[in-house]
Amino acid sequence: MLQAIVIGGGATGAGILRDLAMRGVSAALVEQGDLVHGTSSRYHGLLHSGGRYAVKDPESARECAVENQIVRRIAPFAVEPCGGLFVRLEQDDPEYARQWVAACREAGIPVEEVDLERLRRDEPLLAGSVREAYAVPDAAVDGWRLVQGNVAAAEALGARVLTYRRVVGLLMDGRRVAGVRLLNLATGEEERLEAELVINAAGAWAGRIAAMASVPLDVVADRGVLLVYHGRLTSRVVNRLRRPGNGDIFVPAGSVTLLGTTATPVPDPDDITVPPEEVAELKRLGAEMVPMAATARILRAFAGVRPLFGKGTGGSTREISRGFAVIDHAAEHGVPGLISVVGGKLTTYRLMAEKAVDVAAAHLGVKAPCRTAEEPILPPPDPKAVERVVHLVGRDLARAVADRHPATLPQIAAAMERPGGRQVVCECEQVTAGELVGTARQLESPSLGDLRRRTRLGMGTCQGGFCGYRAALLLAREGIVAPEQVPALLSRFQAERWRGVRSGLGGLEIRAAELNYALARAQLAVEPVPDGETEAVTPMGGAGHD
Ligand SMILES: Cc1cc2nc3c(=O)[nH]c(=O)nc-3n(C[C@H](O)[C@H](O)[C@H](O)COP(=O)(O)OP(=O)(O)OC[C@H]3O[C@@H](n4cnc5c(N)ncnc54)[C@H](O)[C@@H]3O)c2cc1C
Repeated sequence: MLQAIVIGGGATGAGILRDLAMRGVSAALVEQGDLVHGTSSRYHGLLHSGGRYAVKDPESARECAVENQIVRRIAPFAVEPCGGLFVRLEQDDPEYARQWVAACREAGIPVEEVDLERLRRDEPLLAGSVREAYAVPDAAVDGWRLVQGNVAAAEALGARVLTYRRVVGLLMDGRRVAGVRLLNLATGEEERLEAELVINAAGAWAGRIAAMASVPLDVVADRGVLLVYHGRLTSRVVNRLRRPGNGDIFVPAGSVTLLGTTATPVPDPDDITVPPEEVAELKRLGAEMVPMAATARILRAFAGVRPLFGKGTGGSTREISRGFAVIDHAAEHGVPGLISVVGGKLTTYRLMAEKAVDVAAAHLGVKAPCRTAEEPILPPPDPKAVERVVHLVGRDLARAVADRHPATLPQIAAAMERPGGRQVVCECEQVTAGELVGTARQLESPSLGDLRRRTRLGMGTCQGGFCGYRAALLLAREGIVAPEQVPALLSRFQAERWRGVRSGLGGLEIRAAELNYALARAQLAVEPVPDGETEAVTPMGGAGHD
């Protein structure tokens, strides 16, 4: 029998799995979709320096400051160390800026004032109304790579990962939780998995898991909307230097820039609708910092749901702490065998995992200490494989490919070396045929969404408009999917991409996009799947994320 089952394949669950495996605990992770099906792929992509929380939530700020350095060290393949800025505009309170600088120093966050002339040279699109600017060690972090790295490291130590398995109930032995009942979304069959302990890392859905054991858990699902702009509007993360609010952070990521976010409590954690008024609000507020945000091309809009711990006051979720809690339900509610971990941020995922596994280890009688902060998650990519890829596509693209596939680069290199393997399928993100085929061959039944998360296919300017078709036909030509599967593969991918495009665009842009979409459908007889039946909820269709 297993010692532990982890529910949830987001950053927290993946971090827990790695920590358990490193302490010698036999464990399996169960996830209802593909990995990062939940919030860990629907977020802003900011590895916080802690600056955002320095004034209001010093404990969270300190945690971020420490974890930021750790994540850079242990997961360089997932971090773009672009740096960050806090900028005060003319209309923002200078007194708050003083308070913020002092609070950052108190929390151990390095802050350095930036000369405004230099700032205008380095960030020419910033508003002329910037009156003060400070550099902080913010960075961009790729949630998919971070989770994939943690999972690969855990699997190498013997841990198991079961995706497309939804927990539909807990196995109870009297008051004790003894395992999980799973619905296998591929076969439609129910499965049972037993373990000494179940760790609930289901993010915004954690309350539902706790309810299966009839224990209360205060989790507020807090929806936030993000806009994806074409190109990099800023070279660094740019935060507005005032009390945290909506539309006050730009994060450059890959070939795009993310502007966010909003904060709206929702009763259902699956509610990821994008209200048009929130898109308009983000554009308006973003343009105060970067005027071009009012007119620059928006590729898509999407929403994610924060798992906040606690009830909050008066309905404003900005007042709920971004800290986290580990709940030992044996001690709290007299229900042994169940531990929940809720709240926090992606930046602090490792610390959350450490604290949850400390509690689990005490129950299991495991003495091994946590080593996740000391050891790199993955060894550096195989230098011979890197050289092979450099030889094929040059140093710049080779670096991107190595970052995207830190654990499986030799297989990708081999696929790229085959005839046609260097041909670019996705121009925006520079994804080659070999990279796609090499990735697809590692998956049981790949959807285009699965490939997108692993390679960034379709995440750039065309949003899958061109590369989606090429990729689907490539998979059929290579015998990875049957030719008759191609229309379904495409329609799910298009529907998911289209959902985000439609919410973000307006005016002439949406007319052009609609025409493109209609033409493609007519040419290839691909019908979009109805709203609500996108990849995210279709068994074996692969989860669809942003
Ligand atoms: C708009 C927005 C922007 C954000 N920006 C940032 C940021 O820039 N930096 C930062 O550090 N943090 C940010 N956050 C917070 C951060 O994204 C989350 O705190 C973090 O991703 C949560 O990770 P998690 O693993 O706990 O949850 P999740 O990633 O949601 O993982 C939980 C998993 O559990 C699975 N699950 C649920 N129910 C079941 C079930 N019954 N059976 C099986 N599996 C199940 C889900 O499918 C999901 O994959 C942001 C959040 C939002 C919403």
